[in-house]
Amino acid sequence: MIPVLLSVQLVEFIWVALNLVGIEITTTEPQLRALNDIHLAHMPYSHSIAATAVLAFAVWAVVAKLLNKPAWGLALAVAVSSHIILDLATHVPDIAIAPGIEAPKFGSGLYAVPLLAFIVETTYGVWCWWMFRGSKALLAAIVVLNLAALSFYAPLIPGPEHLLAGHPKIFAAAIGVHIIVGLVGVGFFARSHWGSSATEAQQRAAAVRPRAARR
Ligand SMILES: [Zn+2]
Repeated sequence: MIPVLLSVQLVEFIWVALNLVGIEITTTEPQLRALNDIHLAHMPYSHSIAATAVLAFAVWAVVAKLLNKPAWGLALAVAVSSHIILDLATHVPDIAIAPGIEAPKFGSGLYAVPLLAFIVETTYGVWCWWMFRGSKALLAAIVVLNLAALSFYAPLIPGPEHLLAGHPKIFAAAIGVHIIVGLVGVGFFARSHWGSSATEAQQRAAAVRPRAARR
């Protein structure tokens, strides 16, 4: 499970690192009240369609060919790609086709209306929980993690975001901390389910084996 969780945020980890060293650029409005006051001005290496294709292929090549785990290779490549698909579904148009191609940029524009984005993202999180058939604790973790970021989505709700105005590198570092806390939280509360479904699978396999042996 840990490789899947890390893969879905691999693009974001790269974005944090490239922002901290100044290769990718984020800007903010002089006053920061919500996410739409932050502009992901330049991020073609972490967040472009071509960069994701290359990264997903590299992950597949390493895991499927080098480590000889083809099913894992495919799963992790899909996990890596899922990040840009969800970003395209939510961001204002800030995702380029490839490094060096400044226009056009893509994104649904949902983040231009942060409160609507909050509702869509929380609903999506709950839907994923339902599909995953997770525990009540996992549902609580998903809702609490979303609510903790509410001030970033609601211009009228004050929060720590105003401190980030003019400090995009601190914003990038905060996103780094935020995704680590999110992954640890989701990973921790999803563990019991993962463990029990593995046990179920073992029991199912054990139940099937004697029948197969009889044949
Ligand atoms: Zn992203």
